[in-house]
Amino acid sequence: MAGELILIIEDNDKNLKLVRDVLQFRGYRTLEAATAEDGLTLALNQRPDLILMDIQLPGTDGVAALRQLKASSATAVIPVIALTAFAMKDDRQRFLEAGFDGYLDKPINIKTVAEQVRQIYERSRKTPR
Ligand code: MN
Repeated sequence: MAGELILIIEDNDKNLKLVRDVLQFRGYRTLEAATAEDGLTLALNQRPDLILMDIQLPGTDGVAALRQLKASSATAVIPVIALTAFAMKDDRQRFLEAGFDGYLDKPINIKTVAEQVRQIYERSRKTPR
């Protein structure tokens, strides 16, 4: 999916830049937001191909932001991957049940993140909603 547009919503500036740089290096275009509110506006206006969503955000958190994306016909079809610092299995299941298409554990592995994103993206396109 090289060249496609990925929106990264992450309040930690260092993590945001790391993910952005890796994805850009692999040929993706990126949009960035540090809050769910800004991210939701970008999603609506720019219609990215995929969204990477931090769970712990100031204001609206990632799970609530996902619900808003899924509630709007304009953004409901966009695959959303959770960026999560929680490593617990119970939490992972909770995120998938909430409607995320996949999750990436933080800290992000720069050697595998682009491939993980591609795999989740392709799987989400094959899965009927
Ligand atoms: Mn965060």
